[in-house]
Amino acid sequence: MLDSVRVRLTLWYTAVLTLVLLALSLITYFIFWRSTVQRTDVNLSELSEAFLTTLDAEVKDQSGPDSVKLAGQVAITEHRFRDHVFAIFDEAGNIVVSSQEVPPAVAATGSSAREPLSSRSFQRFLDASSRSERLFGKVKGGEDGYRGFARHFSLGGKTYILVILQSLHAQQEMLEEVAVTFAWVIPIAIVLASVGGYFLARKSLAPVVAMSSQAGRIGAANLHERLAVHNDRDELGHLAQSFNSLLDRLSQSFERQQRFMADASHELRTPVAILRGEAEVALSQQARSLEEYRESLGVLHQEAERLTHIVEDLFTLTRADAGQYPLQPRDFYLDELVGECVHSARTLALAKKISLNFEEACESPIHADESLLRRMILNLLDNAIKYTPEGGRVAVTCRRSGEEYSLSITDTGGGVPRDLQPRIFERFFRADKARSRAENDGGGAGLGLSISRWIAEAHQGRLELARSDSLGSTFTAFLPIGAPPSLSGC
Ligand code: ADP
Repeated sequence: MLDSVRVRLTLWYTAVLTLVLLALSLITYFIFWRSTVQRTDVNLSELSEAFLTTLDAEVKDQSGPDSVKLAGQVAITEHRFRDHVFAIFDEAGNIVVSSQEVPPAVAATGSSAREPLSSRSFQRFLDASSRSERLFGKVKGGEDGYRGFARHFSLGGKTYILVILQSLHAQQEMLEEVAVTFAWVIPIAIVLASVGGYFLARKSLAPVVAMSSQAGRIGAANLHERLAVHNDRDELGHLAQSFNSLLDRLSQSFERQQRFMADASHELRTPVAILRGEAEVALSQQARSLEEYRESLGVLHQEAERLTHIVEDLFTLTRADAGQYPLQPRDFYLDELVGECVHSARTLALAKKISLNFEEACESPIHADESLLRRMILNLLDNAIKYTPEGGRVAVTCRRSGEEYSLSITDTGGGVPRDLQPRIFERFFRADKARSRAENDGGGAGLGLSISRWIAEAHQGRLELARSDSLGSTFTAFLPIGAPPSLSGC
């Protein structure tokens, strides 16, 4: 049950609401109690003023030693209220007059519910009041206790203490009513809010449930389907949009993968068909000359090499896509590597009477994966020679600009048609498929440039077709120097 977000949300909501309601009711109760006490104190203070005014007026009409007692009795009669107890004590703590009788026996035992003046709690209050001019305090007794107020006053040169007690019964009843009200209102509010919260959570999560069942139905066969976006400004709309854009990316990569597989099998089919055909022809003819066998084996070897080349390129690209082609960088001189590559390509160039020049630059230290860069340079040189007619020229330059090298390979071939230029780095793309295949000189599956671009980018660099027209093409690779090389340059 707790696995459901709806239930968890409702429980959380109920718990928080319960805490808030409890805290609120406690605070309300406390504030109510405080203001009741304050109101009582103000009332007691005002009552004492009125009492003393009456006492003052009455004492003037009296004479003799009991004048204060007699005046007190009059004042008590005038100010007697149901819930109030008045008492006047002299400085020694002896009672002069009070609105209640104080039976000495009860006073000695010290507790009486009906006679607060005789309780032990009152004695303590009285003791405290002798030390303070004005004193408020709680006195036990009666049903719910009393709020007491004691103040000193002088009459005829003597000091007396006036004590007024107000019963707290009415207030206690009011506070109890408040507490009882809270006690039934809060549980009802919590139950109602929890039920409402559950339905609210259910309603808010309904689109998520719908989305998840819709998403569950999307598979490879219907990858084009998308989740419905009801409101693109709310959180659920954003979630659906994010999910849809994830599906977009997935289906794009799925399509790319399918195209890659289709192109790869198409490219592999041709050399395999040639291999099979050539082998069948060689086997079907009974009497063949040694020369004819050598020729067939030559074709078989050439196609096997081409097949190996394509398979290796495919393997490189799939590993690169999966991020499983870790670079193995080290310090070396780029100009030396270019020189070596130019040297290896010279045989190819000579076969087509193409002049191949490398403009020796100053020493170019670099921190990179040497074998990958070698592969890139050989690819570019191979293309330049392959797509340049006999007697043409191929020139290689390597320059440093700032923190990167620019390595350019320029040929005098026919160039890439302008409309096809943006596509030449795509996998399996060949500007002239028929020609590439017909010439058949070492590969031509349309993977060389995509691998070369990946190599440049894996080194945080880039490979561009800088120029291509009827006079030839220039491919430029920009390669960062890499980690501070330990080798020195010029
Ligand atoms: P391929 O194996 O066909 O050479 P690449 O990926 O190396 O594959 O090249 C893709 C296409 O770009 C080639 O088929 C060719 O049409 C074009 N191309 C590459 N280099 C050159 C160049 N130097 N001159 C003219 N066209 C080129």
